[in-house]
Amino acid sequence: YDEIEPELLKRVEDVILNRKSSNPQGASEELVAFAEKLKASAVEPGGATAAIAKGLEWRTLALDERISHALVKGVDSHIVEDTERALAELGSPIAVIEGPLMNGMRIVGDLFGEGKMFLPQVVKSARVMKKAVAVLEPVMLAEREKRTVMGAETEKAKTFLIATVKGDVHDIGKNIVGVVLQCNGYRVVDLGVMVSTSKIVDAIRSEKADIVGLSGLITPSLDEMRLNLEEFERVGLKVPVLIGGATTSGLHTAVKLDPYYSGAVSHVLDASRVVEVCQRFLSENEADRVAAVAAVKESNLRTREEYLGKASSRKVLSPEAARLRKFSSDWAKTDIAIPDRTGVFDWPVSVGELVEYIDWSPLFWSWELKGLYPKIFEHPKYGDQAKQLFADAKGLLDRIVRENRFHPRVLVGFFPAVTDGAETVSFRDRDGKVLDTITFERQLDDEVAADGSSAVRYSLADFVAPAAAGREDYVGMFAVTAGRDVEAFAQSFLRQHDDYQSILVKALADRIAEAAAEWAHKRARAFCGFGRTENLAFEDLLKENYRGIRPAPGYSACPSHAHKQKIWKLMQVKERIGIALTESDMMDPAASVSGFYFNHPDARYF
Ligand code: SAH
Repeated sequence: YDEIEPELLKRVEDVILNRKSSNPQGASEELVAFAEKLKASAVEPGGATAAIAKGLEWRTLALDERISHALVKGVDSHIVEDTERALAELGSPIAVIEGPLMNGMRIVGDLFGEGKMFLPQVVKSARVMKKAVAVLEPVMLAEREKRTVMGAETEKAKTFLIATVKGDVHDIGKNIVGVVLQCNGYRVVDLGVMVSTSKIVDAIRSEKADIVGLSGLITPSLDEMRLNLEEFERVGLKVPVLIGGATTSGLHTAVKLDPYYSGAVSHVLDASRVVEVCQRFLSENEADRVAAVAAVKESNLRTREEYLGKASSRKVLSPEAARLRKFSSDWAKTDIAIPDRTGVFDWPVSVGELVEYIDWSPLFWSWELKGLYPKIFEHPKYGDQAKQLFADAKGLLDRIVRENRFHPRVLVGFFPAVTDGAETVSFRDRDGKVLDTITFERQLDDEVAADGSSAVRYSLADFVAPAAAGREDYVGMFAVTAGRDVEAFAQSFLRQHDDYQSILVKALADRIAEAAAEWAHKRARAFCGFGRTENLAFEDLLKENYRGIRPAPGYSACPSHAHKQKIWKLMQVKERIGIALTESDMMDPAASVSGFYFNHPDARYF
């Protein structure tokens, strides 16, 4: 829309939106006159016609070049008619796929490999490809030809099976990997999220997978991946396994996964690497394949030995020794914040109110465009792509607000709380009855501070007054979500073969959940008094330049995801706002955030 020449746009809109209704003839007359003027200036190079025609110049190319252009530029406006024409010319859907469509995708793959195209573009190219295949599919089915999700299952097409492991609902990165591989001619079987080991093993066999990808976002998934590999080994599989997702790493793969499987286990840092890694394991030449497996085994072994060598020299404190180095407050003087009321509160909020709280940078990261908003727009390599992605995201967000698509929920709770002077915090009701207790992990590694003294070893419990202080203290908690409507909206795009918008919907939902956490925290600080005079610029909110912290279970200050079970019980999170916990204590829907509020003036993350 933005690319339509402004004067033409105005005149066309005048007609379509009936903007000159007092004189309806006016708008159409003006449009006709404008057209005449264009005709007259057609000879003038760089004139108005030239500008308009430029956008459509490619339409005058030969058919297969038009198809390539559409794929490389991600333009889906003419792909249906061009595909139909190619089908008429070439006579068979497979010929169209293997000819012009695969040629176009090959260019996309090459440009991506050379770092000249970026993920958002590749996923848009895939959208064009899928729309083309959708035209061909009915004909292929009628002809009973074999097919894949994206294209023809030629004899050569290798099968990549991908799944997010049990207990984990991560899928943005997994979906991107699937699309990238499809663009490179792989047949991709995506088993979805929360997939059990037995289902994965069955599918590896029934789909004759050539290579497998295991994906996961949260730390318990790391153990789940090990269980998968142990089972693969037990049943005698040999298929190479790729590991990916936020908490995975080359080190973790080498130390915790590789020893359990005799086949290749390879960590893939991001989606742009996956094709290269697959190619290595699936080389036509057997000697090369064997060498690739040996190389990754060898590299994992080296990483593991290096790590274990260092680990043996690392000093770990006993819980008692660490406790002697706890963070201590002068509780006679510490400013304790008192919430307006204690209890659990549902704070209504709309997406519209959350927009100004969105931290945009991580949206770019989910598409592997590394940089900070808004500076990223000036990036020499992908500044333009970042701008385009942002425009698409903003357009979609406007639509979500306008059409009231999402219904975010915010639940907060404030409880009287007291510690035992060690790591355990008791949460109480207004009458002093203990509702539940949480034991917060204390740092145990024996670190030396910058000045040479022994570093303080923190537990979040240190930020809460002990009974001995004789003062009433409070701990808060929160759970927020972009809501259950996200999935259905994302699905509606998949039905139109539009992975790009589907992934963008999910990435935006994550942004909205994080914005809800920021919004709720600001309100919670005001609710506890000290936040009322805060007056921070948005950048300072993002840098968390305020009093208090909101540590999230699963992050390093409180690494156990199981803490969420306590939050869920104390606030009735599932019953009240519909976020469920999976067997690994991951939140479902995925676009959700939860944590604690510690308001101690010196509270910090560690
Ligand atoms: N503006 C970001 C906010 C998320 S990251 C976004 O939109 O994505 C920052 C959050 O991670 C913190 O607010 C806290 O909830 C969590 N966090 C960071 N470091 C932590 C630590 N050491 N322990 C526990 N939680 C931590």
